[in-house]
Amino acid sequence: MRTFLQRITDHLHAIEDRLTVRTQIAAAVAAMSIVLVGTLAAGAALISYKRTAALVENSLAGIASTTSGRLDRFMATRQQEMKLFAELQPMQHLWQGNPDELRSALEALQHSFDFAWIGFADIDGNVVASTGGLLQGKSVTARPWFKQGLEKIAVSDVHEAILLASLLTQRANNEPYRFVDIAVPVRDASGKVLGVLGGHLDWTWASNLIKDAEANDGNTDTRLTILSKGGMVLVGPQKETIRYGGDQLADILKARDGTFRETADGQQMLTAFHVGHGYRDYQGLNWIVTASQPASVALAAAMSSAQTILAIGGVTALIALSLAVLVSRRVAGPIIALTQEADRIGRAHGPTMLARQSGSVEVVQLSRALRSLLRRIGHAEERTKEAELRATENAMQLQEDMLKLRHLADTDFMTGLMNRRSFLAVAEDAVAFSRRYKRNMATLMIDIDHFKKINDTYGHAAGDDAIKRVAEIVSQSIRTTDKAARFGGEEFVVLLREIDQETAILLADRIRSSIESATVRHGDTVIPLTVSVGLALFDEADRDVQDVIERADQGLYVAKKTGRNRTYLMPAEDERAARAA
Ligand code: GH3
Ligand code: MG
Ligand code: MG
Repeated sequence: MRTFLQRITDHLHAIEDRLTVRTQIAAAVAAMSIVLVGTLAAGAALISYKRTAALVENSLAGIASTTSGRLDRFMATRQQEMKLFAELQPMQHLWQGNPDELRSALEALQHSFDFAWIGFADIDGNVVASTGGLLQGKSVTARPWFKQGLEKIAVSDVHEAILLASLLTQRANNEPYRFVDIAVPVRDASGKVLGVLGGHLDWTWASNLIKDAEANDGNTDTRLTILSKGGMVLVGPQKETIRYGGDQLADILKARDGTFRETADGQQMLTAFHVGHGYRDYQGLNWIVTASQPASVALAAAMSSAQTILAIGGVTALIALSLAVLVSRRVAGPIIALTQEADRIGRAHGPTMLARQSGSVEVVQLSRALRSLLRRIGHAEERTKEAELRATENAMQLQEDMLKLRHLADTDFMTGLMNRRSFLAVAEDAVAFSRRYKRNMATLMIDIDHFKKINDTYGHAAGDDAIKRVAEIVSQSIRTTDKAARFGGEEFVVLLREIDQETAILLADRIRSSIESATVRHGDTVIPLTVSVGLALFDEADRDVQDVIERADQGLYVAKKTGRNRTYLMPAEDERAARAA
């Protein structure tokens, strides 16, 4: 579970990293708008539905109660009319008088009232007179209205005509006559009961009353019905059937008015009911008037208000979204600028500075922090460069010094020729090379003749000048591959590479004669100079360079012995012979 959440979070972060600030803000605002508008619309629909349903129920309750009241008033009026007629003074003599006169009085009454039939039955139940003469002379003792009418004013519930049906003319739509009976006891002046005045009200008026009420109501979906206290439909669809029964009917009769929801013909209905309770003297028959409307009417109103709110919400969300895009552009602008600046700095050579950015406190702070960071980096960079430069300088100086030192260590101070140590190293290499590749190599040993005398005659400084001049001539006389060294005092050694015996003798003698013919000056004095040269060629038998130098020295010795200012080649064989001897 934890890892799953972790994975989702990682995934979200990965998506976030691919989205710009602008997109993220726009997406957040869009999501927020959808949630807000959706919630508002749903809430509005619910509230609107409840309010509309309540309004519909109220209006239905009003219609039901008005219609019920009208029913009761109509019945009360008819009952009052019958009662007044029975008690009418001029009628007193007619009840037991001429039946024909009574009949015409009754017919006059029928015309002004809405009765289908009015008749007077004597105390024995025989109809004395009636409108149209119908049932006249017949006995009505078995009829409930007669029995009840002997006691008091009685109103009987709707029923189909039993005796009269066959006598009355057929109606156009063939619908059977239905009546409500009103019976009133007739008394003489002393209060003695003479008989019963009975009237049959045609029920058609109730149907008309309902039709009028439905027509007057603004909503064409409103349906009105009248039910008997037994729950049977008296007026309305499915006539003569029991619509409510059992507990439901008991509840309706107990509550007397109210509203409820029901399903009729598979349709949700809002229904209001009102139980008639009579009017003045009229006791009422507990007729139930119901007014119904499909619940979808209320729902439709609710949906339309929800749609309106959705539309308004949609427009608002669009405005919010464009605002969000504007705001995000303002917010993202400085961040993009900072990013570009940082990118530029990353590529730039050398120290650089970030332009000041603004747009929000965070951006100002970030730009300030980056600037201070860059200042520090620039400072560090400069110091590193300085240190590098100094290190390079030091290294170069050191190298130079080392070179100088090495040069000093390898060089004879007075003449600039090689000294003994450096010469021997080079000569050793040359010997090794000659031995390996069987090449020729020679050494010269040069010594100034009677130098002590020069020192004595011209002074030590002049002697020094002479040494320097000889060194100059020697180094000018040899090839670049050859090496010359001062071995101390006024003695010089020369290493000649890749040279045969003849050339070596020629070269040695040329050095000697060059010195002899050179003008050596010390101040204004010209010093005459000669040198003696010992020459030795490398021989396979030589152990090292010392052997060759040694032989050249022997050659020099011979040159000195044999008169000076000459060159003498010391052959290797002679030496071996000498050694052998
Ligand atoms: P020879 O012909 O037999 O070589 O005679 P020479 O007088 O040259 O004898 P030698 O070579 O033995 O003498 C060398 C002298 O050179 C000894 C010393 O007084 C002198 N000398 C050595 N080094 C220097 C130097 O650096 N400067 C000067 N002016 N004299 C030096
Ligand atoms: Mg010497
Ligand atoms: Mg000498």
